[in-house]
Amino acid sequence: MTVAIYPGSFDPITNGHLDVIRRAAKLFEKLIIGVYDRPNKLLTFTTEERVKLVRRAVADLPNVEARSYVGLTVDFARQVNAHAMVRGLRISADFEREFDLAMMNRRLNPGLELVCLMASPEYQFLSSSLLKEAASLGGNIDDLVPRHVSQALKKKVGGGNVTNVATAEGPFL
Ligand code: ADP
Repeated sequence: MTVAIYPGSFDPITNGHLDVIRRAAKLFEKLIIGVYDRPNKLLTFTTEERVKLVRRAVADLPNVEARSYVGLTVDFARQVNAHAMVRGLRISADFEREFDLAMMNRRLNPGLELVCLMASPEYQFLSSSLLKEAASLGGNIDDLVPRHVSQALKKKVGGGNVTNVATAEGPFL
C-alpha cells in the first residue's frame, strides 16, 4: 500500500492545507496527517484541538486520517510505514525552508521521499498565522477555513482578544 504523511502544525487547519490534502489523497492509497505536538512556535490551539479540527475537516475523505506525533518527523513516518512525505509550497516563502528540511530529513531517513505540491493560486497567501491575526482583528475569514474552524477561531481569538494569537513569526497585518 502506498502510504504518505502530511506533517505540520495545523494551528489551525486552513483551506490551503485542505487543498493539499485533497490532492495528495488522490496520489496515495493512504494519507496520514501528522499534527506536530510541539512545533517551534507559539500555538493558539492545543494539540488535541488541532487534531480534532483536522479530523472533522477530512471526515469525508475515506483514505485520510489524522494523529498527533512527537519527535522527529522521519521517525513518525517510519512508525506508520510511510514511504513519502507531502508538503505544500507557497510562492517563494516556503521553498528555502522546505529545501533545508528536505536535505536534513534525507540524511535522517534516506528512504523517505518528499513530494511537494504547489499551493493553488487562491491559497498562495494563506497561512495559519495571518489567518489568526485577521480573525483576531475582526476580519472575515469564513472563505478561508471550514465552518467549524471559523467557529473555533472566533471563540479562541475573536472579540479583540489579540493576546491569544500566535504571531511570533511571519509578517503582521
Ligand atoms: P509547519 O509549522 O510545518 O510549517 P503548517 O501547518 O504551517 O506547519 O504547514 C504545514 C504544511 O502545509 C507546510 O508544508 C506548509 O508549507 C503547507 N501549507 C501551509 N499553508 C498552505 C497553503 N495555503 N497552501 C498550500 N500549502 C500550505
